[in-house]
Amino acid sequence: MPLPDPLRVRFAPSPTGYLHVGGARTALFNWLLARRYGGAFLLRIEDTDRARSTDESTRAIFTGLNWLGLDWDEDVTHQGANIERHRADAERLRAAGAADRCFCTADELAERRRDAESRGEAFRYDRRCDRLTSDDVASRVASGVPHVLRVRVPDGDTAWDDLVHGTISFPNKDVDDFVVLRSDGTPIYNLAVVSDDIAMGVTLVMRGDDHISNTPKQILIYRALGAPLPVFAHLPMIHGSDGKKLSKRHGATAVGDYAALGIMPEAMINFLALLGWSPGDDREVLSRDELIALFSEQGLLAAASVFDPAKLEWMNGQHLMRAPIARVVELVSPGLVEAGLATGDWLDANADWLRTLVEQLRTRARTIVDLVEQARPFFGSDVELDPDAVARQWKDRDAVRDVLRAANEQLASLDSWEPDVLEQTLRALAEARGVGAGKIMQPLRVALTGRAASPGMFDVLMLLGRDRTLHRINRALDHLVAHA
Ligand code: GLU
Repeated sequence: MPLPDPLRVRFAPSPTGYLHVGGARTALFNWLLARRYGGAFLLRIEDTDRARSTDESTRAIFTGLNWLGLDWDEDVTHQGANIERHRADAERLRAAGAADRCFCTADELAERRRDAESRGEAFRYDRRCDRLTSDDVASRVASGVPHVLRVRVPDGDTAWDDLVHGTISFPNKDVDDFVVLRSDGTPIYNLAVVSDDIAMGVTLVMRGDDHISNTPKQILIYRALGAPLPVFAHLPMIHGSDGKKLSKRHGATAVGDYAALGIMPEAMINFLALLGWSPGDDREVLSRDELIALFSEQGLLAAASVFDPAKLEWMNGQHLMRAPIARVVELVSPGLVEAGLATGDWLDANADWLRTLVEQLRTRARTIVDLVEQARPFFGSDVELDPDAVARQWKDRDAVRDVLRAANEQLASLDSWEPDVLEQTLRALAEARGVGAGKIMQPLRVALTGRAASPGMFDVLMLLGRDRTLHRINRALDHLVAHA
């Protein structure tokens, strides 16, 4: 199916909570399609539900989209600002004979529903208000009798060619005459969506599968308003690993939570892109530019996809490794400051050192939070000893003391602090003592980093520098004496 020209897509979240991963995926697919084909990506905040919509949620949506780097074109539309147009469109439906006033009260409808159900029938609005005379209607309207506006669903079927699912067809007999305007004059969701999509010139509506049942109603509204239909694309649901619809039970579902967990936005969009789309080969790790270049409606998948947090973390590790080092530094720096390890000014003043540190650590980390944690021993003069590392690597305290004293002596006597000199020195020390290099490096690693795992020893020595290295070895010796 050819894509519409011009291509105008939109993301239309309801600001009733945070930006969840399902919404972010919908936003991303729309954005990718627009960026791939030079279309427009519009943002509409569906805030007509005053009771549930909050400014805080609207802000969370902006923050989430900004974090993911999904920039929108044109001004943001706030649905709540368009109620007059929604009403005017409802009036056009009535004038066209596609919708009529209905004076039935909620109680009357509930009673008829009960009756129908007690007969084992599905309730349908019986169009009894159509039998009112026009004088009767006019006098009720004049005297302010509350009424809604209901679309009269015609006979036949309503079908569309869905970009994801192919032809979808609903028999109209299954679509009840639906309300488009409440008795207080506020529009019902399906009317507001169509009215706004027409006004915004949206030509392709891509959204979650959960909107499929709204689509026949919306198509009937388009037709009655004489507006061209957009192309519809309904994206499959996202499931948790147990095959059930993704929910908080499965862990974090807010985009902001993943930012806080140290996921990079480029990894998040890569991961989300593969929930319901495939590039057609087995490539998985794709940059933002690659995603734009490869994205196409042909790769949209109809089956539900599974949100696997372990895979997201793996993918983040891949992006950490591949990103330009300056990008990783940019992402890690605020975390280092927040953890109280350094000030922003200090990091700026030590930019080369920081680049080296990040370069050393990024292959070992899966997330930004992880990287900050692993960077901890490289800041400050002293280091916190991990009791497990001490228990494992400093078992034979006398031997360790000897080794650290000897290392201290050798390192203190060096005039130059270069990787090859350091390596020769420590290897010579191991040889002189008749032990493998590990017998020197492992206790030394604990003395210098407090931990049993770290980047390579010579990198650690270079990152710490001479003074801190000697200081930490001496503190380790103090500790060994105190805890002998
Ligand atoms: N506001 C709706 C939602 O958040 C989306 C409406 C649409 O995309 O048509 O689910």
